[in-house]
This record gives sequence, C-alpha cells and structure tokens, in this order.
Amino acid sequence: MLLNSKTDVEKMEHVDIIASGYEWDCPNCEHLNLVIEVTDVVECDECHFLYATNPAEHAVGTRKAARACPPHLHVKIHTKLYARQTHDMPAEYTQKAECLDCGEWLDVEDIPEQAEVKS
Ligand SMILES: [Zn+2]
Ligand SMILES: [Zn+2]
Repeated sequence: MLLNSKTDVEKMEHVDIIASGYEWDCPNCEHLNLVIEVTDVVECDECHFLYATNPAEHAVGTRKAARACPPHLHVKIHTKLYARQTHDMPAEYTQKAECLDCGEWLDVEDIPEQAEVKS
C-alpha cells in the first residue's frame, strides 16, 4: 500500500462520493423519515406503520424537473413534527422547504434570497 500526503492532491486518484440517505413522509402521521438505503419495506420511526416502497428510479421520473434547479425559486415551507427520543420529551417542530419546481427538499437556511416563499 502506498501512503501519500495531503499536498499531493493533483496526483491523487479520484473517487466518487455517493450521496446516501433518502427521506419519505409517513402518510399516517406525516413524520419525515430518513433511510440510508432503499428497501422493499420501510417502517415509520414515529408510528411504526409499514409501507412498501416505490423503486427510487420511478420516484425520480415522476418529478417535475423541467426547470434547472438550483437555485430553487419557488419554495413552500412545511412544518414537521421532529422525532422524539422518548415520549416524555416535548414535541419539537422543524421546518423544511419544498421546491415547487423540482420537488427537492431543502433546509430553510438554504432557501435562495431571491426565492418566492410560500408557507
Ligand atoms: Zn408515521
Ligand atoms: Zn428546485
């Protein structure tokens, strides 16, 4: 094995960084779930309902991706119940923004300044 140093960036081989993590909304309790891989069946973290999943390629194909995003210029803010660690903890809410053009979900901090925001 060959050891190299951080100063040799130009000489290094390249690797692809694969984005992992998928989000899905539970139709029963509207909890936003995160999974690291797509499986045939997923379970809601909050209400433990089980759902069959659509293949990931299919979901991408049905998105309205006609416009070039980012920047996401038409976003809608959604407020979600955040996952509780125990039932004694108070419920926390978090806000997520949905791009109305491409259907992508982004953090509220990531909304472009020029975007038209609906809530
Ligand atoms: Zn649920
Ligand atoms: Zn977009």
